[in-house]
Amino acid sequence: MLTDTTGPLVEKLKARNYQKAVITTHHKPDGDAMGSALGLYSFLTSFVTHVQVVTPTDYPEFLNWLPGNDTVLIYEGNETEGARITNEADLVFCLDFNRLSRINEYGEVVRNCRAEKVLIDHHLEPECFEDYTFWDTHSSSSSELVFHFIKHYFGIEHLSKDGATCLYTGLMTDTGNFQHNNTNSTTHMVAAELLDKGADHVKIHEQIYDVFSLDRSRLFGYCLYHKLEVLPELRTALIYLSADELKEFNVRTGDTEGLVNFGLSLKGIVLSVLIIDRTKLVKMSFRSKGDFAANEYAARYFNGGGHRNAAGGQSDRPLEEVVTRFKDTIKLYATELNAI
Ligand code: 5GP
Ligand code: MN
Repeated sequence: MLTDTTGPLVEKLKARNYQKAVITTHHKPDGDAMGSALGLYSFLTSFVTHVQVVTPTDYPEFLNWLPGNDTVLIYEGNETEGARITNEADLVFCLDFNRLSRINEYGEVVRNCRAEKVLIDHHLEPECFEDYTFWDTHSSSSSELVFHFIKHYFGIEHLSKDGATCLYTGLMTDTGNFQHNNTNSTTHMVAAELLDKGADHVKIHEQIYDVFSLDRSRLFGYCLYHKLEVLPELRTALIYLSADELKEFNVRTGDTEGLVNFGLSLKGIVLSVLIIDRTKLVKMSFRSKGDFAANEYAARYFNGGGHRNAAGGQSDRPLEEVVTRFKDTIKLYATELNAI
């Protein structure tokens, strides 16, 4: 169900009460994070004089074609400018995350700035730091929520072709091409309206998925041939990669995106895990089928969270230790995993 307290915000936006707005999204933004942020950006510039998208970190190159991408400021490496713009803003939109720890050090800048804060999100367990909320855990994506926000309060005529392109990208990526169980009839109706507004689904699909570098293709081949482990008694698949392996395949931000899905496509597998040694931290991605709550498991053992069937976590312990901890703790869920 939608929690919506944005009524007074909408009145002030329509009255042109805000001069400067920032739109931000989570650490290592994905298609929905950038799609919702840039989709909102293309709309918001009609109601707020200065709008700046600030991402906490860099993001995959396959998102660089999104309309508006050239205007984005990456906080990491531009901390002074990012903090200045945020401290001068009278409005900060937080998209596709609901805890300020998800945006690293930039979270404290957002927390302490004088701006009114708006949350548009579809994740569980919000921190509730914001002044205005547009939140629905049953929504396919934050991009879908941005669409509803614009259409409901301002009218579909305020959505441009560029905006529709960005929002369609978010819908498509967060639903795994309208395949995951977060897809429902509303998602498809929103997609249809975005196509009517000019989103070119063939082009969007090509720009997101048909852009593998040779290194990335070889990394996928290597993982499937040498690294994919199956724990049949737990109906679980696992891939883990060391920092040396990442270097060998010249892995860049976004290159491992989608890898975790291969485990889940094996017959009988209901949990797939990707564990990556990102040097400072070991990062984990979980994907599950049915009732297995990957987010609860990730929260309990790996300081993570997310959605029931798509979650993430991390650890500051060495890779081997993390893999061992995973194998030891997942055994405790044998009954649940075999009941699916
Ligand atoms: P991914 O595996 O694609 O990085 O993330 C899958 C889902 O889990 C996303 O919805 C993302 O927001 C969430 N997620 C990923 N990493 C973390 C984390 O460290 N903490 C929390 N709370 N959620 C995460
Ligand atoms: Mn999302």
